[in-house]
Amino acid sequence: FNNRLQRQEKMEIISELAASVAHEVRNPLQVTRGFLQLLRETAEEKPKKYLGFAMDELDRASEIITDFLTFAKPQLDDITVLSLSAEFEHIEGILRPMANIQGGDIRVQLPTGLYVKGNSSKLKQAFVNMVKNSIEALEDEGVIQIWAYREREDVVIHIKDNGAGMDEHELSRLGEPYFSSKSKGTGLGLMVTFRIIEVMQGKIEFKSTKGVGTEAIIRFPSAD
Ligand code: ADP
Ligand code: MG
Repeated sequence: FNNRLQRQEKMEIISELAASVAHEVRNPLQVTRGFLQLLRETAEEKPKKYLGFAMDELDRASEIITDFLTFAKPQLDDITVLSLSAEFEHIEGILRPMANIQGGDIRVQLPTGLYVKGNSSKLKQAFVNMVKNSIEALEDEGVIQIWAYREREDVVIHIKDNGAGMDEHELSRLGEPYFSSKSKGTGLGLMVTFRIIEVMQGKIEFKSTKGVGTEAIIRFPSAD
């Protein structure tokens, strides 16, 4: 019992620490990137190349923070009843600009009155990682549809895109740490998402066809 308690306390300290580190580290990364970019503008060919490599590495560090810790807030590990429509309003607000830059659109149809139990920051992290993947998979006239409903004792959420899609092999590797088909991917986003959904006693399933699109179906026990 003692050991378990200590372990739990350690985990809490680690996640609090990680959250504050993420928050504090992101700014200097961005500032450093800005200065490198300025230097690169007037640099000779070889230093230009090296400065580009340095900027790529900084981008990579930022991506890792985004996939892991965007919404992690120190001292906010509490579990409450969450309204899905409110949570998704926030998620949509964050991701709509990113989708629009890609020339895509996000359509959310969530009735009020759907509730799940969990941590608000973690739930947002889980879904942002998924919707971000959908945005990154979009090609011309991309659309991401998000909808949800109650089914018996469960709340069911669908996230469907008409992006690049995946083959069987890619599908089977989803959530595996470091599996990424992107040149600048971390391969950590879905690992984090799967873990959060599991902790919330949820289930996730992916359907996908190469060249057609991808649909994720997530099921949580309803909280009312
Ligand atoms: P990353 O986005 O950094 O590559 P993720 O864990 O978020 O890492 O995703 C792993 C891989 O799963 C992606 O590189 C991509 O190949 C695939 N993937 C995930 N979601 C989708 C999607 N909606 N459409 C197509 N491929 C996807
Ligand atoms: Mg991702």
